[in-house]
Amino acid sequence: MVNVCDIHVMKPLLAEHGFHFSKAKGQNFLIAGWVPERIAEDSGVDETVGVLEIGPGIGPLTQQLCLRAKKVCAVELDRRLEPILQQTVGEFDNLQILWDDVLKRDIPALVKEQFAGLRPMACANLPYYITSPILTALLEAGCFEAVTVMVQKEVAQRIAARAGTADYSAFTIFCQYYTEPEILFDVPAGCFLPQPKVTSAVITLRTRKERPWKILDEKVFFKAVRASFAMRRKTLQNGLAAGFPELGKAGAAQVIAACGLPATVRGETLDIAKFAALANEIVNYKK
Ligand code: SAM
Repeated sequence: MVNVCDIHVMKPLLAEHGFHFSKAKGQNFLIAGWVPERIAEDSGVDETVGVLEIGPGIGPLTQQLCLRAKKVCAVELDRRLEPILQQTVGEFDNLQILWDDVLKRDIPALVKEQFAGLRPMACANLPYYITSPILTALLEAGCFEAVTVMVQKEVAQRIAARAGTADYSAFTIFCQYYTEPEILFDVPAGCFLPQPKVTSAVITLRTRKERPWKILDEKVFFKAVRASFAMRRKTLQNGLAAGFPELGKAGAAQVIAACGLPATVRGETLDIAKFAALANEIVNYKK
């Protein structure tokens, strides 16, 4: 197997194909072999799994996934990588590469087509410029047992944040609504070529088998979450009144009181259970 993370192998390989990194495509390739090995190992991928990889680059993680999974489907935007991937992962017969923008794919249809009878998982060293849209698409697809990705460390912290902390955001709640995230390990900038300006972290998001909240209307729930965080450091009452004009300030106050929350409470201190209760009160108020 070609040791693609060895800089003395990678540089001549890239030069041979006249390949230059594209910043616009978020191309920072791994040059530390322990990283893709550990991502693949910690992701829980095994011979019962079909794994979707986003952005294989020149294939360091792809190789490790192919060694463990029953099937790997890798979606890569940059077709210039085709002859290189031919050399680095061409030997694997459990790999299919799709040349496309992952954001343009119907993910549930792709999973159905590629991974029939297998446990679907997603695993990737993500292009950082589209971390949120990719994660949103993967979680909304609702078909992966787990999603294990490398992201900027601060994004990982945001995803795994607890209520009331500075990192807690609407995106935290979105991710924790669908999954239970766990930060696995940090990856220093020196593990990439070219080096990014930030530290990275690998995070796994395990899909909840059951969501422990009773939510009457998911749309109202997420709207309440967004409204509360849109006016950070303002009271929840102001946030809700702005997000739900039909409530007005008086209605917002009534809904907050019905949840047993203090009138001056701030949205960013509420956990998912409290947001669920709040959203249900809004639904009932509208009736
Ligand atoms: N997996 C490789 C590694 O770890 O060295 C490369 C990771 S690099 C951070 C991100 C990869 O995603 C690049 O190969 C880039 O071309 C690809 N990419 C960027 N935007 C994409 C998109 N919209 N759809 C699919 N792949 C994309």
